[in-house]
Amino acid sequence: MELDSLYQEVILDHYKHPQHKGLSPSYSAQVSHVNTSCGDEITLNINLEGDLISELTWDGQGCSISQASVSMMTDLLTGKSLEQAAVIVKSFSELMASKGTSVGDPLVLEDAVVFAGVSKFPGRVKCSLLGWMAFKDAAIQAQAKG
Ligand code: ZN
Repeated sequence: MELDSLYQEVILDHYKHPQHKGLSPSYSAQVSHVNTSCGDEITLNINLEGDLISELTWDGQGCSISQASVSMMTDLLTGKSLEQAAVIVKSFSELMASKGTSVGDPLVLEDAVVFAGVSKFPGRVKCSLLGWMAFKDAAIQAQAKG
């Protein structure tokens, strides 16, 4: 797999220095998702204050794409409303479904546009989406409780 080298660097940086890693002791909802095709595992804790995502923490293991993607996602979505987060998640899902034809919207996705190149590799799309799918699940569960 070859990605633009700058993008590769940003992904590796998140992989080596993951953000928001280490599960919070309390949470509104906790989910665990696995990507069996690659062996990636992610557990995600979400804390909601009303409609606001006050905290996202995670733990996991797997390939650099899966781990960097969840790291970047937690950075991006913390402090956002559920409504804002849904727009960002939708945009990222569309980027991942683009098969390399989209560069992503940096105004919505910020640094997460670095995953644009991953959409060319069907085998890795699941890796990059794993944390985001976990977030969707966690948000639904937290709201159902709330
Ligand atoms: Zn993977």
